[in-house]
Amino acid sequence: MSAHMFRRTALTLKMLILTAALGVAVWLVSDSHHTRSLKELFHERLAERFSLEAQEHRTRFDRHVRIHTQAAKMLAGSQMMLDYLHGEPWEGRDAQSVQYHVDPPGWMPAHSVLRPFVVPRYALLLDSEGRVRELYHWDQTVPSPDLLTPSALVLALSRGQSYLTRLEAGPYLLSSEPVMLGGELVAILMLAAPIDSGFLRESQALATTPHTVALLSEGADRILVSSDPNAVPDGIRLSELSDLYLTVGKGFFDYGSSDLVIRFASFIPLQEVSDLTQAALDRAREQRIMITAAFGVTFMLLIYLLTRRVRALTQRVVEFSSHMAVKQDRTDSRDELDILEDRFKTLTSAIMRETEALEYQASHDPLTDLPNRKLLNDRLQNELLRSGFTGAPLVLMVSDLDHFKEINDTLGHHVGDLVLQQAAERLYKTVRKADTVARLGGDEFSMLFPDTTLEQGLKIARQIGRVFESPFAVEGHNLNVGISIGIAEFPAHGDDVNILMQRADVAMYAAKQNGLTYAVYDPGKDTHHVSRLELLSDLRRAIETGSLECHYQCKLDIESGRVTGAEALLRWDHPDRGMIHPDELIPLAEKTGLIRPLTNLVLRKALQECARWRESGLDLSVAVNLSAQCLREDSLLDTLRRCLDEFRLPASACVLELTESDMMADPLRAKEILMELDVIGVRISVDDFGTGYSSLAYLKQLPISEIKVDRSFVREMLEDENDLVIVRAIVDLAHNLGIRVVAEGVHSREVLDMLARLKCNEAQGYFIRKPVPGDELLTWLQSEAR
Ligand code: C2E
Ligand code: CA
Ligand code: CA
Repeated sequence: MSAHMFRRTALTLKMLILTAALGVAVWLVSDSHHTRSLKELFHERLAERFSLEAQEHRTRFDRHVRIHTQAAKMLAGSQMMLDYLHGEPWEGRDAQSVQYHVDPPGWMPAHSVLRPFVVPRYALLLDSEGRVRELYHWDQTVPSPDLLTPSALVLALSRGQSYLTRLEAGPYLLSSEPVMLGGELVAILMLAAPIDSGFLRESQALATTPHTVALLSEGADRILVSSDPNAVPDGIRLSELSDLYLTVGKGFFDYGSSDLVIRFASFIPLQEVSDLTQAALDRAREQRIMITAAFGVTFMLLIYLLTRRVRALTQRVVEFSSHMAVKQDRTDSRDELDILEDRFKTLTSAIMRETEALEYQASHDPLTDLPNRKLLNDRLQNELLRSGFTGAPLVLMVSDLDHFKEINDTLGHHVGDLVLQQAAERLYKTVRKADTVARLGGDEFSMLFPDTTLEQGLKIARQIGRVFESPFAVEGHNLNVGISIGIAEFPAHGDDVNILMQRADVAMYAAKQNGLTYAVYDPGKDTHHVSRLELLSDLRRAIETGSLECHYQCKLDIESGRVTGAEALLRWDHPDRGMIHPDELIPLAEKTGLIRPLTNLVLRKALQECARWRESGLDLSVAVNLSAQCLREDSLLDTLRRCLDEFRLPASACVLELTESDMMADPLRAKEILMELDVIGVRISVDDFGTGYSSLAYLKQLPISEIKVDRSFVREMLEDENDLVIVRAIVDLAHNLGIRVVAEGVHSREVLDMLARLKCNEAQGYFIRKPVPGDELLTWLQSEAR
């Protein structure tokens, strides 16, 4: 199997192959090791056993030899012998010839009497001179010729003991005994036996383990005689037998006397040894095979279960990916772990990308790509901390563009955006790398200059002023866009982020009022500051006493022509200043932290009004506008739940409007809160759609039920082809995602008709109805219904 193919195989199979290969290798190594050590062990044990047996063989041989001596003693001292020697035949015999007996002669008892000793091969009766007179030979065997003429030495050496000697015919065992009569030697009895294979066999006749035994002649490595000449032939070298036999019990013969120095050996056939070993090995191997098989099966089961878990995990990753709208490509080519790794990598890198993007979006303005207010605040905070330690000066500027509102209103959003982008670029190019240029919102920019004195700051402000002198070339227009800069410095004007920002802001208003490019904060002339402070305390009181009001602008369902709901819009009838519109109020509330109580108040008033409409039989919903800051804390959810409860309204009666940029200010937090709102059942609407830069991928993940096309697109939809294209695209796109579309700022019948053709769901605008107090809207709707 090639490496490539192996990689493509499923995990279970791959593990199986690996296990099998590894198992076989380990098995082979361990088996050979095991076999070797077992064999050694067996050989040791067997050698021990065999040497015991060999010892037994030796003992038997020795006893067999000794029995000849005892037999000779018994014969020589027997009454039969004495009787015979008294008798005529012995006295009168011719001394020259030897008398041969085939049957036991008169001086020998019957075989049956002799059997407990030994039936001698040869029994010789010699006269007192040592001449052989009679010979009994068993089975007519022929004795060695020199046996018939034994020397005096031989007779002396064999007397009363076993004597091993070499005669002409080979090695012999001799054992002689004097026969005494009245204290006088009358004859000598001698038993003789050739030490041949028969003798050796007889010696081992009663052995429990009838192995081959042999005698070796001294000095030579050769077999003198063996009990089985077929197996161990005479004259063969011991070394030639090492392949066939285990030779044990080698030792010198040490009984009686001998002029032959001979050794004794037992031969155990190696076949027998290996048969015994093999049987034991086979048993051990069987056991090992069973254990290995059990292990193998268990291991495979584990692998199988593991693979299933891996697959399940992969499935979870895939599901989570699709939940996160992360595309997972098909990969069916590799094993489960690879696939899991792949999917996981895809998912994590997508999440990381998304997170990075969200983090960037959270801290940057999408239009100009500059840091936003949040990031500027963070940096200012850090720089203030650092300057607090080092005492380094710091300059903060807040600026806004002159006449920007007119440009936006007369030339449209698109041109306004381009002007903002160019302005951002000019500012960015004027400052150093260490400085920060941020867009605070609208046409407001702020610049932070660390390690900068006021003097240096003024220089930079003049330079910015010059940079803004040349007109902005946008879409064929040459636009003169001035800039007003407010300057505050640390530590002279404050050491706190909010105070420095506020004072730079005050300085900017002063610059604007006086028609200057820049102005430094002057506490003495902080009249704007004073009036804003008054307004602020008035607003705080108004919120506390609930003396703010809402006007309601209805939403018309285009297809049915019926009013389905109304949007609550904040109004403040200031005792001295008259009606103050939200465009002025909301930024002030947002900057001073009053936006939360304000929103809670509006929410309460709007839901109360909605409950009144419903009591009058009008099935309407109410929409409330939220600020970005409302998403940062939980009191919104609490207020909402409490009010819905108090006025007995279903959650579906409430719509919350949020602009794209509000959602993008802190996308992760926004997502969290919107999900919770969705769980309650409150609908979410994206306000001023088309003016922000939110990613659709992000919006897609949010539980949004409605999009409101910004009125700047709707206003000139019939005159400007571009706007019409945009509105149509938004409607199609939203419908694709299952989201309803509301058009804002509908101010004529023609626009409404066009929206109907575009299949826009709802419309809102002065043509349908201006925002009016709740009672007025109720009366109007009741009269319409009639
Ligand atoms: P918005 O949410 O886009 O509200 C619609 C604004 O467009 C309202 O201005 C409304 O009077 C105006 N409008 C409606 N139809 C037409 C039309 O046909 N032509 C034109 N030219 N204008 C039309 P309004 O009441 O001055 O509110 C301004 C903005 O202030 C609102 O814009 C909203 O973003 C914010 N706002 C109002 N009330 C609240 C509030 O309670 N809380 C918060 N956070 N913001 C609010
Ligand atoms: Ca709105
Ligand atoms: Ca709007």
